[in-house]
Amino acid sequence: MEPCLPIAPASPQPRRSRQARAVWGSRVVTIGGDAPVRVQSMTNTDTQDAIATAIQVKELAIAGSELVRITVNTPEAAAQVPYIREQLDRMGIDVPLIGDFHYNGHRLLTDYPDCAQALSKYRINPGNVGKGDKHDRQFGQMIEAAVRWGKPVRIGVNWGSLDQELLAQLMDENSRRPEPWDARSVMYEALVTSALESARRAQELGMDGDQVILSCKVSGVQDLVSVYRELARRCNYALHLGLTEAGMGTKGTVASSVALGILLQEGIGDTIRVSLTPQPGESRTQEVVIAAEILQALGLRSFVPSVTACPGCGRTTSTTFQELAKQIDDYLRAQMPVWRERYPGVEKLRVAVMGCIVNGPGESKHADIGISLPGTGEAPAAPVFIDGQKAVTLRGDNIANEFHQLVENYIEKRFGQTHAAAAA
Ligand code: SF4
Repeated sequence: MEPCLPIAPASPQPRRSRQARAVWGSRVVTIGGDAPVRVQSMTNTDTQDAIATAIQVKELAIAGSELVRITVNTPEAAAQVPYIREQLDRMGIDVPLIGDFHYNGHRLLTDYPDCAQALSKYRINPGNVGKGDKHDRQFGQMIEAAVRWGKPVRIGVNWGSLDQELLAQLMDENSRRPEPWDARSVMYEALVTSALESARRAQELGMDGDQVILSCKVSGVQDLVSVYRELARRCNYALHLGLTEAGMGTKGTVASSVALGILLQEGIGDTIRVSLTPQPGESRTQEVVIAAEILQALGLRSFVPSVTACPGCGRTTSTTFQELAKQIDDYLRAQMPVWRERYPGVEKLRVAVMGCIVNGPGESKHADIGISLPGTGEAPAAPVFIDGQKAVTLRGDNIANEFHQLVENYIEKRFGQTHAAAAA
């Protein structure tokens, strides 16, 4: 069949949410509207241990987390929040802190004003603010604190702690329908209603609608897609996306990537968190790395230079190209905290490390700098391509180090000049 139209490149649909602002000092992190999709994370330290918490917040911020949430669950934890903030400020880490409140947030925000002030945003779970009259009163107290201190709130509904009174009411109403919905649809509706009704109530209490962010987290990919599509259809609040309790390792990574990828491609989602259970001994920062990779893979943002490497096959019987790809990838990531300042734009660099002549030269030409290593039986020569042109052919035992140096030279030449020009 003949083509009738050129094939359009795929790209994420535009978002249409309002814009909220989380502020600390001179640092303003905008969320929603035309702001970039933000990466969030959450500590797993005991907030009472202010030093350990401040250190982990610093690690998460350096890894690329633009907002960090901490648990505020007890008076002792609330009392430490200003001290955590102070420690971070001393270390030069101005990342906004979000307080995660459940059950007693109304009391903690009232009794610990320094905590309320030191936080840049409050997370309120409407399923965990009490029942009946208490629910409305306690929810109201948290909103009053947010209004008093000028803080945005995330109204974060979670199906593990869904407002059971609301769910029961919707189940009752559903049973009276001529054709009742299935239980799952009622649960979706309860999640969305809980978020939207809470937001409406917050605005009635004086909260600026621009300072309200919503989330409705579930742990199933298709459930998350269903709920967020409906949430986005029914409101234009900024939305925080995340697959709750995503799990460990590849399962959590893949499930989060698929769920968030679908929604972000549809223009749904203004901040994301990957709720990964760390493997024993694994750094908490892994969830930040994955969140950033999701945004970068979709072409929504650039955080680190990308390394394109082939998977290898029967044409590569040595591990040389795998080792080189890993070395380069590790090196680029390790340098980013310094390079971000020194080489503006370096995060857009594309490097290719390929295993043989089949796709090696072609893929290397598409990258800014790429190397095509010799496959089994090929002449022991590795052509290097710079900006699409063959620049040099490396030979011998020192190919890895020589390519490393070529990458450094390229970065200095291309992005160092940008820096010098910008500074002039
Ligand atoms: S580039 Fe060569 S080594 Fe790499 S996957 Fe393709 S054929 Fe195999």
